[in-house]
Amino acid sequence: MKVTDHIEKAKGETLFSFEIVPPVKGKNIQSLYDNIDPLMEFNPPFIDVTTSREEYIYKEKDGLLDKKMTRLRPGTVGICASLQHKYGVDTVPHVLCGGFTKEETEYMLVDCQYLGIENIMALRGDAMKEEKYFTPTKGGHTYASELVAQVQNLNEGKYLHDDIEMDNLPDFCIGVAGYPEKHMEAPSLQSDLKRLKEKVDAGADYVVTQMFFDNQKYFEFVEIAKAMGINIPIIPGIKPIAVKRHLNILPPVFKIDLPQDLIDAVDACIDNKAVRQVGIEWAIQQSKELKEAGVPVLHYYSMGKSDNVKAIARELF
Ligand code: FAD
Repeated sequence: MKVTDHIEKAKGETLFSFEIVPPVKGKNIQSLYDNIDPLMEFNPPFIDVTTSREEYIYKEKDGLLDKKMTRLRPGTVGICASLQHKYGVDTVPHVLCGGFTKEETEYMLVDCQYLGIENIMALRGDAMKEEKYFTPTKGGHTYASELVAQVQNLNEGKYLHDDIEMDNLPDFCIGVAGYPEKHMEAPSLQSDLKRLKEKVDAGADYVVTQMFFDNQKYFEFVEIAKAMGINIPIIPGIKPIAVKRHLNILPPVFKIDLPQDLIDAVDACIDNKAVRQVGIEWAIQQSKELKEAGVPVLHYYSMGKSDNVKAIARELF
């Protein structure tokens, strides 16, 4: 079922969902299930599965360094199919512009249709580790709006190159990213929201936001988005702080601000167990306020460990 149908069916009740990251190649998928199992009692209607960009690794060969391209966490679509089969839950594979040609994307969408995956999160992806700025892959898209248009074209029966009549049109529900504190490359929140509107006009059905720690930023973002004619569900993304290092990692990586009260509470912790508890309590307070405001879904970035998301969900769902 589509994410938007789940939201409609819930008739104003806030739903619970979360995002998982595929395991590193070679690791057992059981560890992924072990983290998902404890969250299934909260009845997530859908689970997002991220896609990681390819990266370069260097191997010594004959005294020289041999540069090879690899993808350390492949398997997004396979994991989606396996979760649908194992838990009977809908899944949302993240589809990136970066690292994929348009043709590869088309074949992946065809796989998704065969597998009964009805939702797609359409994203540009970040720059590769070695790059300062995002460089489009040869034969790939430059912006997420173009990827949304490709998925929407397929929904309308249009392949990239072939004039083949489809017996059975796909009907992907398309999610896109939104940034309450603006995307790091955007000159202003207003211009970033104009770009978000382009994704909506190209066919996006709902938005999931980047993590934020001050609900006011989300509320203002939704208000401005609505004023600009963005009338699709805007799902808040919540990340519980889990380790002290997050204070220094999250702001530069995601270009977000942390409220001083949260920083002070984390700073006062004697160990990461205490930090984890502060993160849980902060996320519970955020979630309660968002739920009272009637958000359609509370979407959690689980980052591979679910005990904190479970502690939060227990208070809310
Ligand atoms: P876009 O919407 O294309 O925007 C990128 C930038 O370009 C913005 O600054 C925008 O304002 C600007 N822009 C857009 N269109 C134009 C235009 N026509 N002309 C000029 N400027 C323009 N990354 C991953 O690698 N894997 C994941 O699984 C993943 N999941 C994510 C899930 C969520 C909910 C979010 C919020 C982010 C996720 N990301 C993921 C990160 C995302 O790929 C990065 O934030 C990326 O830098 C931007 O992606 P986007 O889809 O928002 O890009």
